[in-house]
Amino acid sequence: PTDLNGLADEYLRLAYHGLRAKDKTFNATLNTTFDEAVKEVEVLPQDLGRVLLNLFNNAFYAVQQRQKNGEPGYQPTVTVSTKQLPQKVEIRVRDNGTGIPEEVRQKIFQPFFTTKPTGEGTGLGLSLSYDIITKGHGGTLAVESQEGKGTEFIISLPA
Ligand code: ADP
Ligand code: MG
Repeated sequence: PTDLNGLADEYLRLAYHGLRAKDKTFNATLNTTFDEAVKEVEVLPQDLGRVLLNLFNNAFYAVQQRQKNGEPGYQPTVTVSTKQLPQKVEIRVRDNGTGIPEEVRQKIFQPFFTTKPTGEGTGLGLSLSYDIITKGHGGTLAVESQEGKGTEFIISLPA
């Protein structure tokens, strides 16, 4: 049994501090909205941790890219929230980064698909995450995105 709120909080900070270690000028607002009613779920923390790290790294990358546009007043923000539903637990990872164009969104779960320059992305994060959540845990991994506004990934795990 794994404490999802604790795991999500830990990996959000891990991803942020990993990025800040490489780029001291990068600042983002981290938001957490944890549902205290979230029950412990039967998952391997290292598996779910890997998924969360992928999602957080992608989210920070997306806000960092958008920040480079120099829009006045733009504040990079990454939010993680959890919610206990009757049959499932949801973990949402949201960013106000670049967003994903429709033609790109159709390919993001394919292995080796990346829009990042060589050395910055392998294109394996989301395909691996998708397999861990669906095949590994009987859950779902969905995405909602608006180009120029941001992206939200929704992990659902059976309760
Ligand atoms: P990688 O990060 O190595 O490129 P991923 O499988 O993690 O591989 O992601 C695949 C692609 O999906 C990324 O290259 C990017 O184009 C897109 N993507 C994923 N997450 C986000 C996000 N939060 N915002 C914008 N684009 C994203
Ligand atoms: Mg990635």
